[in-house]
Amino acid sequence: MKEILKVENVCKYYGKEKVLNDISFSLNEGETLCIIGPSGSGKSTLLRCINNLEKIDNGTVKIDENYLIKDGKYSDKEVIKKINMNTRMVFQDFNLFPHISVLENITFAQEKVLKRSKEEAKEIAIKMLKKIGLEEKKEMYPCNLSGGQKQRVAIARCLAMDSKLLCMDEPTSALDPELVGEVLKVIKELSNENKTMIIVTHEIAFAREVADKIIFMDNGQIIESGKEVIDNPKNERTKEFLKRFNYNKGEKKMNIENIEPKEVFKYFKQISDIPRNSANEKNIRDYIVEFAKKRGLSYYTDEYYNVIVTKPADEEYKEYDTLAFQAHLDMVCEKTTTSTHDFTKDPISLIVEEDYIRADNTTLGADNGAGVSLMLALLDSNIKMPKLECIFTVQEETTMIGVKEIDINKISAKRIISLDCGKEGKMIISSANCMEWYGKINIEYDKKVQLEDYYIYNLEYSNFRGGHSGGNIADVTRGNPIKLGAQVLNEIDKVKIIDISSSGKVNVIPREFKVQFAVEKNSFDVSKIEDILLKQRENFNNENIVFEKVKNIDKNLKVMDSDVSERVIKFMYDFNNGALNFDSEKNQILSANLGAVNIVDNYIRIDYSLRSNNTKLKQDYLEKLKEQVKENKLEIIWSQELYGFEPDYNSNLVKYVSDLYKKNNNKKIEKIITQGVLEGGFFKKRMENVDYIAIGPNTFDVHSPRERLSISSMERMWNLVKEIVQIDFNK
Ligand code: ADP
Ligand code: MG
Repeated sequence: MKEILKVENVCKYYGKEKVLNDISFSLNEGETLCIIGPSGSGKSTLLRCINNLEKIDNGTVKIDENYLIKDGKYSDKEVIKKINMNTRMVFQDFNLFPHISVLENITFAQEKVLKRSKEEAKEIAIKMLKKIGLEEKKEMYPCNLSGGQKQRVAIARCLAMDSKLLCMDEPTSALDPELVGEVLKVIKELSNENKTMIIVTHEIAFAREVADKIIFMDNGQIIESGKEVIDNPKNERTKEFLKRFNYNKGEKKMNIENIEPKEVFKYFKQISDIPRNSANEKNIRDYIVEFAKKRGLSYYTDEYYNVIVTKPADEEYKEYDTLAFQAHLDMVCEKTTTSTHDFTKDPISLIVEEDYIRADNTTLGADNGAGVSLMLALLDSNIKMPKLECIFTVQEETTMIGVKEIDINKISAKRIISLDCGKEGKMIISSANCMEWYGKINIEYDKKVQLEDYYIYNLEYSNFRGGHSGGNIADVTRGNPIKLGAQVLNEIDKVKIIDISSSGKVNVIPREFKVQFAVEKNSFDVSKIEDILLKQRENFNNENIVFEKVKNIDKNLKVMDSDVSERVIKFMYDFNNGALNFDSEKNQILSANLGAVNIVDNYIRIDYSLRSNNTKLKQDYLEKLKEQVKENKLEIIWSQELYGFEPDYNSNLVKYVSDLYKKNNNKKIEKIITQGVLEGGFFKKRMENVDYIAIGPNTFDVHSPRERLSISSMERMWNLVKEIVQIDFNK
């Protein structure tokens, strides 16, 4: 068998820290090697060294026939160039070029690096796209693909380069759990086809299945390797690590308190035992107060059950600024239809599966229990740090009363780090201002209508995808059935509405819309309407659009007059909906959602919300809106305004935390401008000059019984916050 890779005595330092300590192994052609191990153990560094993305300090790496480095001495440029052609790397977060199509992503390096002709590159690209099952997406841009599809494209891009060795660094850990499978399937096929690969992964069951060889790393060293590492670990550290994956000799459920970092998961377990539905935070508040008392920490609490716990500065950090962390105590309580869980008294049962913690058919409460436990662990740790203020708020998931009412004079920090981001590798630097209102049009009936002169039609849209009006509105493939209905109604003259309704509410993209209306017989071109509907069905890939004439007409049917009907229709048709404005980085910063249209008492109510991350844009838009409202003779009822905050690109908090992340992870933290509403908007509104960001470990499917928390991500987040508290922000 031919050896493709030889690694001998490789050492690598970052400053004084030895992150790779005498690493040796080899890999034959056609073999799949999986590397497992806790976070920070050096797995990524090893892959980066082999791919010549990082400098090796000592040792030997030979790929195919050529040495990258031999006994600490790098080969000549020409040789290294050859080697660079022979290795490829797939990254956790895909690294696709956003501004070119899927196809161009795959042809680009073929043309630039391998000097293939355009035609040849395209032919190979299409072959690879077929292989991963995404040929039909070739003209799309990466932003229109799901995470799983993006990663498959990233893999195809590597395959097109015909390299001898393919390395993948946690290829599935940035994906929502339901998308992991499609990527693993592609990798498994490659393994079956004897592609030579190294895969760093937390998917232990997968590693066990595909690997010809497994390496367990800890602390920069190979602790053990072989085919049997997962099924039959010899070393204590391997056994300890594998415990969390339930692969330790049939041990099914493991005690979460034994999972690293224990100092954090200990608290996650404790708070999971305390029911904490929104508006039911007294018990969890009492627990936090008790925690503070036991440790002699001062605290403040109020009638809403907000708590602030303060830890004094250690001597060496007396001169540093006070730093605040923030998380919310309440959780969304959802369960499956079969669950008998009682959220008012039952503890959440925690189940560990591979790298994830989930609950037993209920929400987990990692949103935001993950943040709460990180804060408790910080308060409890004996790391030296400046004065720390931990802010625990209430009812974030519902009324936001906690952050609206908390006594901000009790907070002395000028910097607040929220732990409620939910995605590692991302930092929220702006949240949306959200204005919610509804328009009222009083109903008047047309009593003169002779029904025998009219046809009555039903127009119905159902099974649209809906979604969150902040997070999903830019996704035009979802469609807004109310807008689609308005498009049809707008084509017909003298419509008289009989009934109108939709699903949803102001902050949700509707999934259904129904209208029944009357028009004079033969007064419009039905085929034109059919054409529009055909296009709509095609565009949204949805057959559930029905247009039909009503056969049996109830003689007592009441019909609204044309003026009222027209105003309603014009209103639905005219008003902007969807993503309305983007900043120079393509972040969505203004959006509107036509959330619902329904008959309430004697009027038609149209729910509408506007989200903005930029005050000027919002004001301009509201001016325009005022005119439209006047034109349509609408009565507007403002429901509420939820505050947002604009990005501050000069903030030290943003800068220093980003730098730290970059140093630890070798990649930039992604700065997010969210159209969601965060507590930060209120802190920033109420506290002058406060700096605010949100970060946090990876959680998935929050607010649903499938909610999960990534254990390895929590571990990395713990390492990060421990370092954040050491930052001198005045430097
Ligand atoms: P893994 O991939 O196993 O999680 P890494 O290879 O990313 O681990 O990191 C190994 C160690 O090297 C960690 O202690 C990490 O903090 C450190 N490290 C990684 N990259 C850098 C860097 N660019 N500068 C300084 N230290 C780094
Ligand atoms: Mg890594």
